[in-house]
Amino acid sequence: MELMSKMMTIKNYINGEFVNPTQDNWLDNYNPSNGEIYGQIPNSTQDDVENAYQAAAKAFLSWSNTTLEERSNILSKIADLILQKIDFLAAAESKDNGKPILLAKQVDIPRAASNFQFFANAITQFSSESHESVGFNAMNFTLRQPIGVVGCISPWNLPLYLFTWKIAPAIAAGNCLVAKPSEITPMTAYLLGEICNEAGLPKGVLNIVHGLGTSTGQAIVTHPKIKAISFTGGTKTGAQIAKIAAPMFKKLSLELGGKNPNIIFADGDYDKMLTTTVRSSFSNQGQICLCGSRILVEESIYEKFKFDFIQKVSELKVGNPSSLDTNIGALVSAAHLQKVKSYIDIAENEGGKILFGGDSVTVKNFENGYYLQPTIIEVSDNNCRLNQEEIFGPVVTLMSFKTDEEALFLANDVKYGLSATLWTNNLNRTMQFSKQLQAGIVWVNTWMLRDLRTPFGGAKDSGVGREGGFEALRFFTEPKNICIQYESPS
Ligand code: NDP
Repeated sequence: MELMSKMMTIKNYINGEFVNPTQDNWLDNYNPSNGEIYGQIPNSTQDDVENAYQAAAKAFLSWSNTTLEERSNILSKIADLILQKIDFLAAAESKDNGKPILLAKQVDIPRAASNFQFFANAITQFSSESHESVGFNAMNFTLRQPIGVVGCISPWNLPLYLFTWKIAPAIAAGNCLVAKPSEITPMTAYLLGEICNEAGLPKGVLNIVHGLGTSTGQAIVTHPKIKAISFTGGTKTGAQIAKIAAPMFKKLSLELGGKNPNIIFADGDYDKMLTTTVRSSFSNQGQICLCGSRILVEESIYEKFKFDFIQKVSELKVGNPSSLDTNIGALVSAAHLQKVKSYIDIAENEGGKILFGGDSVTVKNFENGYYLQPTIIEVSDNNCRLNQEEIFGPVVTLMSFKTDEEALFLANDVKYGLSATLWTNNLNRTMQFSKQLQAGIVWVNTWMLRDLRTPFGGAKDSGVGREGGFEALRFFTEPKNICIQYESPS
């Protein structure tokens, strides 16, 4: 495959064309599997963001007036093209991010297609409310109008998956976009530009600018005419964005970090739980905001679980992401590998006991790649940094609990509130935990089973607002109520 063997120059996608950054400034793009530079990406400035904004603003009048059928057809076509190019896109994603190619092919790329197909359908079903003011001879109806030009900023862990999760509803609702993927994983967003042209998306509806968060991303957030920002990334970055956007009265959707509990009771389906827990701990090298990084286990099965979990995790193969038998690929960057490893050092200082892993891995012929063993650490105090801070890598902690009350307390005793997983077959416990867990998403006897109609997002420091289904279409539209009073028949 040509893409895989040559140096790639990524360009900005503005007004349907691929253009160099105005200042001709470039950043290196690394391949995490071997640490080599394999391409360059624009280091875009405020001028590039302004050009993208101008193209989007110009396209808005026409795009916001296209029929829903036309929008839906174009989105479906994009979905079809993504699926047609699945092997190519999966290889590109795996190379850019370090994730196993099989994961990219089975999860990331199909989900990117589903995001477009879902909102192609959803927009045809989206409706607004009417309220009759009985006794006043008045009728209210609420228009849901596209906002105009909106900004979408996404992270590196599920690059095309999360980028399209924002873009698809924004476009479906009739907006035009200035979007920025992470500078660390820009490749599939770049390739999406070509797909959009092929699918007949009108020029300027989607504009993609590449560059650093602190300059290019910041230019999107501070742009006075970009009236809504949909952001997924770290909690610290979310706070910085909110600080800028709030006094500018921008609409904000923030999907942020997590430190999710995986609560295991003895009465659950043990085998299913064990297999799923390996996945929820280490999928995508643990770099999924929904990973259950704090494993809380009922005391009566703690020792058995510990033994079996270590056994299963020891079978995972860390290796070159392009090998089909690799379970755990490379972490996304050298800096991120260092950050994750620093938590393993913290564990040792905090009295955590490393039960498995903890070391870098050298992969033959990929010696400079960013590989780390899946790591299991036993802790005894929920206040330790390992249990309070998001590590976002292949590192989980184990802790036991005695009672339901203790499990609930430990689960909620963090600043984050993104997701929680519960393993039990007790109906009362299921309902009590479902109601009392402080999280935007609770999975019972499963993990990461996603129905795209459902609200998605976090409580507490994990975010503000919800994506998914009609929630996303509500975010990307401005409600306007019209109240009409009429004469009553005399
Ligand atoms: P970051 O917050 O570092 O970056 C996210 C995006 O924001 C990137 O495109 C980044 O650009 C950009 N950015 C960084 N600083 C700014 C700024 N000041 N203004 C505007 N944009 C900026 O997150 P990561 O990419 O490291 O992603 C990991 C984080 O994302 C984790 O905390 C994870 O939990 C969270 N996440 C949350 C999800 C959810 O749904 N709640 C889903 C997935 C991840 P660049 O990288 O180019 O510098």
